[in-house]
Amino acid sequence: MLDVLVIGAGPVGLACALECQRRGLATAIVEKGALVNSILGYPTNMEFFSTPELLEIGGYPFPTAHYKPLREDALDYYQRVATSEKLTFYLQRKALSLSGEQGNFTLETDLGPLPARHVVVATGFYDVPVRLAVPGDDLPHVSHYYKEPYQHATQPVVVIGAKNSAAKAALQLVRAGARVTLLVRGPEISPSVKYWIRPDLLNRIAEGRITAHFNATVTEITPTAVHFRTPEGGPAAAPAAFVYALIGYLPDEALLARLGIAPDPADEARAPLFDPATHQTSRPGVFVAGTVCGGRATSRWFIENGRHHAQLIAAAIAAQQAR
Ligand SMILES: Cc1cc2nc3c(=O)[nH]c(=O)nc-3n(C[C@H](O)[C@H](O)[C@H](O)COP(=O)(O)OP(=O)(O)OC[C@H]3O[C@@H](n4cnc5c(N)ncnc54)[C@H](O)[C@@H]3O)c2cc1C
Repeated sequence: MLDVLVIGAGPVGLACALECQRRGLATAIVEKGALVNSILGYPTNMEFFSTPELLEIGGYPFPTAHYKPLREDALDYYQRVATSEKLTFYLQRKALSLSGEQGNFTLETDLGPLPARHVVVATGFYDVPVRLAVPGDDLPHVSHYYKEPYQHATQPVVVIGAKNSAAKAALQLVRAGARVTLLVRGPEISPSVKYWIRPDLLNRIAEGRITAHFNATVTEITPTAVHFRTPEGGPAAAPAAFVYALIGYLPDEALLARLGIAPDPADEARAPLFDPATHQTSRPGVFVAGTVCGGRATSRWFIENGRHHAQLIAAAIAAQQAR
């Protein structure tokens, strides 16, 4: 019987496991993919917005050759921390539902049950993309995950979205020789786009290297085009050999429900109801950590602030065990 089973081996799940283990609690992590699976899926050449010291967990220094860490720096760092701390993992194993009660839970997974006294849910938000819900949004050349631009050189590509991910993808694509159309639902590139990315994108639009349409509503995607309409221009179509719909992600609310985690009825973002002092949810013995704590407000918690949930949770579980 484990004292603590953490679901999700992202930066925050790792921080939780490490803090629990350091308090003498028998701890393991169940992860449906690889170690730090979400970051593995980020754009290949992605650079973090945060400086490295703000991404550190467990007191391990995060030395990098650059001012901002790259995706592979972070993969290397978090995987090294996990192995240095000799954390226990069940990788490539998906959590499905939770039965039992505090002190005697059974987590059902696709590879069989795992018993534990406490459960920490650190499942992030990267697995459920927001869908366009238009005909053709499930075609094989439509993706919600951007990796790198090189397969698109000389090709027409449509990027849908106006935040950091869409902005960075559009810039990389045009620099790799793709013909980029950017479709933006609102009247402007989001003011929340990082201050060093937004002017770059606006200048590429101003000089005509990226064609941008604002107040654009996508109506249909076909194998060769994205159809949309704008209030001024009416219906139109942008040629597209590939489409990146980078319009956000959601936590897996169906999974949270199967884990018995109730949303906060007072929160529009449907964030889990939890005690901010301990991160225990309304289901005793079940805790939430990291991005998942924000519900649909996926930018409320990130690594910089979410990593601090680990100490609160580990202290609360250790105190409960000591009773
Ligand atoms: C492009 C990009 C750039 C970013 N840059 C920054 C930055 O500069 N600074 C910053 O602080 N934040 C940044 N973020 C946000 C940050 O990456 C996330 O907030 C962070 O990954 C959250 O960590 P987490 O451990 O809560 O969740 P995640 O890292 O998403 O980890 C969740 C884990 O749970 C696993 N999982 C999910 N469901 C199950 C299941 N049913 N069973 C088992 N395992 C499951 C997933 O596979 C995943 O490994 C960025 C995000 C993106 C997309």
